[in-house]
Amino acid sequence: MHHIGDLEIGLMFWAQGSPEETIQRVKALDLRCGQLGIDETYPIGGFTQDWLDVLRAERFGLATVVCSYTGEDYSDVPAVLNTVGFLPPSTRIERVARTKYVADFASQLSVESVACHIGFVPEDPADSNYGQMVTVVRDICDHCAFLNQTFALETGQEPAAVLKRFIHDVERSNLRINFDPANLILYGTGDPLEALDVLGPYIVSVHCKDGEYPPRGLPNALGKETALGEGSVNVPEFIRKLKQLGYRGILSIEREEPDPVVREADIRKAIKLLTDLRG
Ligand code: MG
Repeated sequence: MHHIGDLEIGLMFWAQGSPEETIQRVKALDLRCGQLGIDETYPIGGFTQDWLDVLRAERFGLATVVCSYTGEDYSDVPAVLNTVGFLPPSTRIERVARTKYVADFASQLSVESVACHIGFVPEDPADSNYGQMVTVVRDICDHCAFLNQTFALETGQEPAAVLKRFIHDVERSNLRINFDPANLILYGTGDPLEALDVLGPYIVSVHCKDGEYPPRGLPNALGKETALGEGSVNVPEFIRKLKQLGYRGILSIEREEPDPVVREADIRKAIKLLTDLRG
């Protein structure tokens, strides 16, 4: 597998079709590394060797394997609360099991980090869900630690201080953060540059994503994602601060635009922007 360089530009992408097809779509953008998303329906059992062969043949590096789960809905705050990550009790056991299974798969590919959206961490530690989330995340961290992996939480669905306290309470040294500056804006949970100061020591990977704050007066609405550089994330300052913090991991472009033509054009613009900024 390709060794990912300091601040190398990569892509957050999802397994679709064969390993070969999936990797070729990213390589067509002239990128050689990324974070591989695996949704709950994607078959990984029995295909590990195919993935290994493709990553080796294409000299492609994976920083992270990212899990998503069937039924997750990010359309507004109540939908996220009811469907995302480990908060919904009815799917918790199977999602934890799936996450460990994906971690095993990642380990076979020598990928050192596993990530997902765990769902909103309650702001009040006395909330009964808070303790349950601590227990679930400890369980996954322990599984990942056995595989020499970090387990990375995606930022943004709660304020940075809430996430920091949660990490402290989980008490697992392999618990880390995939820092997504746009999520803090989309969820209206804070200024991403200020959040970097709070969460900097825990960051293992970053998403280069941009967006606008939620519309005023609609308490459950989320903001809108934009092309990188066109939203409210101050991207030059974001990269400058990452460097200042000594961050050397992947710069993983994430773009969720549904139109594939627009998406590809936006990713190419993001590559150019980041190439200029990383120096
Ligand atoms: Mg993200």
